[in-house]
Amino acid sequence: MPLITAMNTVLVDVPLGQRTITDSQSSVDSVEFVQVSIETDAGVTGHGFNWNYSKGLKAAKVMIDECYAPAIMGRPALDRHALMHAMHSTTHFIGRVGVARVGLCAMNLALWDIQLKLEGQPLWRHLGPCKDRVKAYNTDGGWLTWSTDELVADMQRILDRGFDAVKMKLGRPDPREDYERVKAVRKAIGDKPKLMVDVNTVWDLKTAMVWGRRLEEFDIAWLEEPMHPFDVQAHGDLAQALDLPIAVGETVYTLHAFRDYVDCKGADILQADVTKLSGIEEWLDVAALGRAHGLTVIPHTNVQHNVHAQLAAATPNTPMIECCYESLFDIWENPIRVVDGFYTLPEVPGVGGKLTAAVLTKHRVA
Ligand SMILES: [Mg+2]
Repeated sequence: MPLITAMNTVLVDVPLGQRTITDSQSSVDSVEFVQVSIETDAGVTGHGFNWNYSKGLKAAKVMIDECYAPAIMGRPALDRHALMHAMHSTTHFIGRVGVARVGLCAMNLALWDIQLKLEGQPLWRHLGPCKDRVKAYNTDGGWLTWSTDELVADMQRILDRGFDAVKMKLGRPDPREDYERVKAVRKAIGDKPKLMVDVNTVWDLKTAMVWGRRLEEFDIAWLEEPMHPFDVQAHGDLAQALDLPIAVGETVYTLHAFRDYVDCKGADILQADVTKLSGIEEWLDVAALGRAHGLTVIPHTNVQHNVHAQLAAATPNTPMIECCYESLFDIWENPIRVVDGFYTLPEVPGVGGKLTAAVLTKHRVA
């Protein structure tokens, strides 16, 4: 049984390499990553990561260095459930969600990476695939501050590349502008492509009721994060009032919180993100929860596509995942690709969460 012998963490801030992107919550020029490396006496090193848009990920690095690393040093690297419990206990009183969980997920991915490298197989083969490629839908265009002409041109450019499902951002100060922009996009792309809309949590219930109903005329595949994610009951009320499917998950941090959404029928699509949950086991738990209730799980995916494509390949109720920030695909060792609207899957053993040496050197901030 390999034992954990050493750990290190690196914080990088990677420029996006494309025009500043905007939604109703964020304006993004760069993405922070914390890279965790866990060494073992078997000569295998596991790598995990997490990310953030604005400054603040250094707090997760401190938690990893000062809480999680001491809790598991010298222990068997494959005792993952026991190690997760030990790490979780160290931050019991300072956060079961947010920064504490961000660091915990990075550790979980690194521990999985050790096991998969010892087995000599990628994650999706370990889990048992039901697909050999994973459909992608595209969010890498049409950001909130684009003009309507730019937005429409972007959507058309994406469809011309082979995608048949696209998502656009809503949440401008006047919802009537959102409505007009969706109308323009639907008119431009025609009836066939799937079109999703994402509010990034800024509407209240009244606004969501009124404008969600108005948007139904455009055959919207889902309305994403319409309201504050902690107000689960409001999502239940909204879902009951609208025919439009509701999607949540990129700011839902626990299996229990997803359970609450399911219980009040507040979500039709669970967008579970492994980097917001505590790692792969909890993601699989959410996927199973969804399957038991006839719900699809379509994970929020910006920079963690390497992991999510593998999870999706082994999850029957995950019909597709998101594609975003393609300018960052090459920051990973052994990057996967999107070809004709589908993610390829890696054959390299592991989780697929190791940043290249060049990125770690060039963009290191701590
Ligand atoms: Mg979103």
